[in-house]
Amino acid sequence: MKDYNKLIEQNAEVVRKKLESNSSFYDELAKGQQPNFLWIGCSDSRVPANEVTGTEAGDIFVHRNIANLVNNTDLNLMSVIAYAVGVLKVDHVIVCGHYGCGGVQAAMSNADVGIINKWIRDIKNTYARNWDELKELDDKARFNRMVELNVEEQVNNLAKSTILQKEWKERSVEIHGWVYDLGSGRIKDLGVDVSGTDHLPDVFKLDV
Ligand SMILES: [Zn+2]
Repeated sequence: MKDYNKLIEQNAEVVRKKLESNSSFYDELAKGQQPNFLWIGCSDSRVPANEVTGTEAGDIFVHRNIANLVNNTDLNLMSVIAYAVGVLKVDHVIVCGHYGCGGVQAAMSNADVGIINKWIRDIKNTYARNWDELKELDDKARFNRMVELNVEEQVNNLAKSTILQKEWKERSVEIHGWVYDLGSGRIKDLGVDVSGTDHLPDVFKLDV
């Protein structure tokens, strides 16, 4: 059997098992979604949002890209955030990076990775800005720390967005920064929770 046909066959098995434990599972799912979480994670195949968090279809609205970046001019991501926060009214936005992230690793090197150079350049800015701290670490610790700093940066990028700042005028939304450890399967909460603009330099506080 071809690899991709196996996926369709497995889908049939998933449906069979789901209906076995809950005969109305798909009827409920088809009615609509009310997820309470927006997950912004890396495209890496080893960090699937639902699987690592033990959640079901319908629980998490998901956006993934290389190195879980929150880029101000990314129309795709900004639309996802606008819908999740403004329409679905999720209470929590989670940026989840992961140790061993190839995108972060490439950004820390001088490698020419083609069009991806453009995507990961902001990570280089984070790297350069934090060099005083990073230079004290060995290679492995530096890589791990950069994954964490990159997540922190994206949490702050979210706080700088018009979408979040407008929503904060109306209600509470929390942004969280996590890192998934591929080696243990565990999520580390970086404790960089943000629910407003107080921590930002004044110039980022918009008159929304
Ligand atoms: Zn990654």
